[in-house]
Amino acid sequence: MSTTWDEASRCPRHELTGIEQSSKPMKGGVQGGQLITLTCPQEECEYYDVGWIVQIRPDGTIPDAATSHDKSFEAMPGWRAERGRDIVQNLQEELRLSQRPGGYRLGDGEKGRRHFT
Ligand SMILES: [Zn+2]
Repeated sequence: MSTTWDEASRCPRHELTGIEQSSKPMKGGVQGGQLITLTCPQEECEYYDVGWIVQIRPDGTIPDAATSHDKSFEAMPGWRAERGRDIVQNLQEELRLSQRPGGYRLGDGEKGRRHFT
């Protein structure tokens, strides 16, 4: 799969054509490949500061990375939030469960203390 420069250069959020900020040779031994950094022209856009990177292969084609990047970009924070909520819920559940016997033991101890004094 490959995409066109026209597609890849658009802001993932606004579909506005991005502003080319810089281009640098691709690392990892891909001769002639380039990484172009683009930013969104919309100031309030999250991509205005951060931008996104378009990869251009030595033969001038653009891998479908933009789309898969979008997907992982969209999916990752959601996944983390989902996991985070789960973890918090689990912790709260654990806390509730651990407090129940703890409270029981505390009452028991008090009773014992009262008994001993
Ligand atoms: Zn944008």
